[in-house]
Amino acid sequence: MENRWTETSPDPIDDCVRASRLLGAEPDLVLHGGGNTSVKLIQPDITGHEVEVLYVKGSGWDLASIERPGFAPLRLTRLRQLLTLESLPDNQMMNELRCALLDAKAPDPSVETLLHAVLPHKSVLHSHADAVITLTNLQQPLVKEVYGDKVVVVPYVMPGFGLARTCAELFPGQFTDDTIGVVLMNHGLFTFGDTAKEAYDRHIQLVTEAEAYISGSFAPKVAFGASSAPKATMGATLELARLRNQIGPMIVTRHTDAQTMAFVGRPDLADVATRGPATPDHVIRTKRVPLVGRDIDGYRRAYEQYFHDNATAEKIMLDPLPRVILDPELGMLTIGRRAKDADIAADIYRHTIKIIEDAERIGTYQALSAKDLFDMEYWELEQAKLKLAGAPAEFTGETALVTGAASGIGKACVQALRAKGASVIGLDLTETDSAADYLGLQADVTDSESVAKAIAAGVERFGGIDMVVPSAGVFPPSTPIAQLDAKTWRRTLAVNTDAIAELFTQVHPLLKLAPNGGRVVLIASKNVPAPGPGAAAYSASKAAVTQLARVAALEWAPDRIRVNAVHPDAVFDTGVWTPEVLAQRAAHYGLAIEEYKRRNLLRTEVTSAAVGRLVAEMCSRTFAFTTGAQVPIDGGNERVV
Ligand code: ZN
Repeated sequence: MENRWTETSPDPIDDCVRASRLLGAEPDLVLHGGGNTSVKLIQPDITGHEVEVLYVKGSGWDLASIERPGFAPLRLTRLRQLLTLESLPDNQMMNELRCALLDAKAPDPSVETLLHAVLPHKSVLHSHADAVITLTNLQQPLVKEVYGDKVVVVPYVMPGFGLARTCAELFPGQFTDDTIGVVLMNHGLFTFGDTAKEAYDRHIQLVTEAEAYISGSFAPKVAFGASSAPKATMGATLELARLRNQIGPMIVTRHTDAQTMAFVGRPDLADVATRGPATPDHVIRTKRVPLVGRDIDGYRRAYEQYFHDNATAEKIMLDPLPRVILDPELGMLTIGRRAKDADIAADIYRHTIKIIEDAERIGTYQALSAKDLFDMEYWELEQAKLKLAGAPAEFTGETALVTGAASGIGKACVQALRAKGASVIGLDLTETDSAADYLGLQADVTDSESVAKAIAAGVERFGGIDMVVPSAGVFPPSTPIAQLDAKTWRRTLAVNTDAIAELFTQVHPLLKLAPNGGRVVLIASKNVPAPGPGAAAYSASKAAVTQLARVAALEWAPDRIRVNAVHPDAVFDTGVWTPEVLAQRAAHYGLAIEEYKRRNLLRTEVTSAAVGRLVAEMCSRTFAFTTGAQVPIDGGNERVV
């Protein structure tokens, strides 16, 4: 582990921020909100009295990006008083911590605050270092062998008041002049010092010693199983969607890198992978054990049993679904309500794999008991968060495929669907920037092979396709039929009609596996019910594709797939309508531009955002009883009404 300390500042809080960020930047030390840090100072309060203040990491802040306001200042004297109590339930402890703050606006102090108060040292740093956990998570732990008297070892106690009290009892009796840290079994490492730099140096030193022991003393890594990643084939894509169908509306991401495939290829996978997580706080993200294989129902039953074996009356059961699936053929699947949650589960499990493999090389990997892990998974502080969380957005866990996603109506549909919680696979001729809940892929919709590849990539990322919005289209220049150019005619039908027919064929098996039923909303046109002169190719292509959608509504109803169409008109805030084209068309009708934009019954301007919202709404429960419908969104048109 590299020591990355560069400069020291005269302000101890600045140095604490620096040390925190250095720990946070290293995923082998802390992951996703794990770890915490503190510094003790003497400061005058508002009355001018000098008070001892503990600045400790606030919850909700990540060490990697923490800033000064991320630290909560608490009265140390009060914290020491609290430590004299025999017991203090966690929700009361959190209340007492808030009451000990010197700043009412400060974030909630870390749940490990009292442990920071127990240690008298000025600077205290805590991480969940992989290498240290590897030494503790063994049938025969090796902490003393590696560290000798440099650390005090604390048996596993759940974070909170009990852990702080346990440490208070060990201090100062077990601490010697050589002590530079505390190892919490199955949890992590604390180091301390007079300055943040000293605590940081010791942290890196101890982690480096553990790493050296693990990598140096034993036989080289033995590779198991396949080392080449399996390809994304249509068979694998469908199998993934089939599994997700049994799980329900969740995001399922597949991982097939060489390291993961080697782990899932281990002959002892079912044994080593089901002993429990590396540290108990991971249960919130990964559940206690992954599902090995594909028996979702079996996992569900086992989870219910685990709940009934360990729960007391007032606990509310979480969903009994796995968050990690390990399958020798499919690789690792990570699961979450949002793509971000599936990503966090993946990050955590990759580290778990490393810890299990290292532990198995130097001994026998062992995790905490099911009861200890249950207590963490169903910790009252976590359950309270659930009660506060409220209902998730309607499309949470669902995925939409939108073509023509980079601009205009397609882009507006992407935004509206994401706003309702959907993850989106966006196809366009140009690649768009991806985010956790958005996969922008480059594909020409008339090239069915590249569309198939994009669909497979989308399913690998999100696990399936629940909604499809074909929005890519072309609007050729106005041409009378007498002067039609065959190439333009064919190109218009190829993009606006043929490509969608092929897309429908490709997405049907996936939509059929959508847990909440598949939905298609076609972006058609006002030109279907009311064609315009000069727009023969466009009007014909949109009429044909509307008829395609109507037949799909008939054919796919037994598969619980709803197919509807919208007919927008005069949506001027799209790329097609440059200021020049707009000025020309307005002049053609002898109207001012603003008049031209609003030449509909309602005298209103239809925006692409309005079309996007309608499309998202038609995918929602509001339209659960509607299929085969065509909904105009044109401000009202005399020829349509
Ligand atoms: Zn911790």
